[in-house]
Amino acid sequence: MRADLLLALLLAAPALRAGDLGSELTFARRRGVEFQVFAGSGPRVVYDSGPSDVPDGDWDTLLIQGEMPDPSLRFAASRPGAAEVWVELQIHRFPNGRFWAKGRFRKGAGGLRLRAVDDGAKTDHEVALYGAEVFAEGPDVSTTPAAPSRGPMDPGAVSPPVHGRAEWRALPPTNPLSPDPLPWRITLHHSDGRYTTSLADSLDETRFIQDFHQNGRKWSDIAYHFVVDPLGNIIEGRPLETLGAHTLNNNEGNVGIVLLGAYHAPKNDKPTAAQLAAVGTLGRYLVRRFGIDPASLKGHRDYKQTDCPGDLAYTTLAELRRAFGSDPAPAHPARKKRMVAAAPTEPYGEGVSLPLSGGEGPDWDQRARNSAASPSATR
Ligand SMILES: [Zn+2]
Repeated sequence: MRADLLLALLLAAPALRAGDLGSELTFARRRGVEFQVFAGSGPRVVYDSGPSDVPDGDWDTLLIQGEMPDPSLRFAASRPGAAEVWVELQIHRFPNGRFWAKGRFRKGAGGLRLRAVDDGAKTDHEVALYGAEVFAEGPDVSTTPAAPSRGPMDPGAVSPPVHGRAEWRALPPTNPLSPDPLPWRITLHHSDGRYTTSLADSLDETRFIQDFHQNGRKWSDIAYHFVVDPLGNIIEGRPLETLGAHTLNNNEGNVGIVLLGAYHAPKNDKPTAAQLAAVGTLGRYLVRRFGIDPASLKGHRDYKQTDCPGDLAYTTLAELRRAFGSDPAPAHPARKKRMVAAAPTEPYGEGVSLPLSGGEGPDWDQRARNSAASPSATR
């Protein structure tokens, strides 16, 4: 009966585009790049990528993101060919320097060449380009997910502390999100962005990602359900139990967790112990709450050609699956309160004892009740 209702809800939901987009763009097989800009009079070209590698498939849109401390920079790109036409990218820059920029081209295959032009920087500074991608606007081709193997579900499972959407001043979704109430798998990503060093920085970065996804990629909301920063803070993304947009053609039943940072060459940020402990705690909660098989945890690259979540995060998956499956305390109703009040330190990984993410204990119960009472509040 309940399953019928859920199915009806799913079928009634508007067909929304959801997915991560096309191909990561590389230059001589390299992704991110950094370059210096010196103060002086412009305009002058301060970066020229040369021809990119040739991405898969046809594309009509280029999207880049990175950090520019000084707003004096412009980007333009052209397709190599007989007629060199430079398309100026539209830049969206946040006050902290994070930016994304987008350009539209005639649809077709092949690579491109990217330039940065300085219009007169006031100070010497370094610009970081974290990532570039090309894609063609088009529908997500959802596959029918395999029948999930599901363990017992515990609706009383207690979530670890999560910094809610209000804390990062989330904007509402641009379209109603589709319900996806019974997740059965989990996928790990990296943001390929800033490796944050404070909660405030992480909340800003989460807001940047939402803007990048809503206005750069034209998605309804931030793609992921959870954001975990290097300090071990867990931040709410799009509401749990709504369909994510993080794994193209494989979003159904898929909880998306993103690590803030770029865990791949050339940046090679490293997952921290606190961060892995937080993901472990979060995963353990999801496993209990929805009966998810810990073995269902995968990296984004297990679904499509991408570096995501980066080599340095990908190698933690086996440890994380073990952490997701560890169950030190029986799920007994009488014990739940005590488990929240004094979360035990659990053995983790190679015999190392990592702290569970701490924080807002008493507040969390109230927040969990509030969000349970109004699941559609953020739609
Ligand atoms: Zn990813």
